[in-house]
Amino acid sequence: MSGLSVRNLSVSLGGVPILDDVSFRVAPGEVVGLIGPNGAGKSTAIRAVLDLVRPTGGDIMIDRVHVHDLQARERAQLLSYVPQGAPVHWPLTAERLVGLGRIPHLQPWQEPGADDARIIEAAMRATDSWQLRDRLATTLSGGERSRVLLARTMAVGAPYMLADEPTASLDPYHQLQVMDIMRAEAARGTGVLIVLHDLSFALRFCDRLVLMHAGRALATGTPEEVLTDANLEAAFKVKVSRWTDGADQFLAPHRANGSQ
Ligand code: ADP
Ligand code: MG
Repeated sequence: MSGLSVRNLSVSLGGVPILDDVSFRVAPGEVVGLIGPNGAGKSTAIRAVLDLVRPTGGDIMIDRVHVHDLQARERAQLLSYVPQGAPVHWPLTAERLVGLGRIPHLQPWQEPGADDARIIEAAMRATDSWQLRDRLATTLSGGERSRVLLARTMAVGAPYMLADEPTASLDPYHQLQVMDIMRAEAARGTGVLIVLHDLSFALRFCDRLVLMHAGRALATGTPEEVLTDANLEAAFKVKVSRWTDGADQFLAPHRANGSQ
């Protein structure tokens, strides 16, 4: 079965158990939302998929191959990654930074060609960052930098995309743009795994959700199955108000114990 599959994943860091028996799957063409409170283990799960942390148990397979059996270059072609709140230290122009996304497809001595340039421009236009192309990446605002880093990830053109809080630090317009990009990627067949805190986005834009809490997957399924009052109270200690506006559904959290 094709897809990215995480089965019974356990991870310990510094001798401390961080993930315990986490299982989920991302099929080609779907957007799977990874939600859960701070410290639940969402980033660790993504880092394990990228083989950046070594699991203490379980299997992570991409299209039936164990991730740690892949060559680094194969892995970089199959999985693109938007890290959480990534700082940029290199004094590169935004366009060259996005061009780094093409490296998995180039030979060590090879310069990017016309096809690469077209892919880089398309990714920068899709994220509203083409006008930033000549700016040094170190001078961008947090939101501008996030859009450039997302463009770099898109430029990889990998069949699976892992995005760790790609909407954090973005204004509302650009948050919605990122969610539309994730849907467009999925429509092209990409399997997308996205860490989100906005529960309305999780409801409106994701095909399936994995709700993590204290290192475990508390619930997996469709947004309607996962975003129940009971699950949200157990995981986030919040109650929610729900409403619809036309075709869009919304979900706003408020604190279960009232304001304090
Ligand atoms: P999330 O992304 O859901 O907010 P993380 O996966 O980043 O959570 O972290 C999960 C837990 O693991 C947190 O309690 C965090 O403090 C802990 N943790 C993360 N990295 C390390 C590390 N290198 N050593 C020890 N604990 C860590
Ligand atoms: Mg995180």
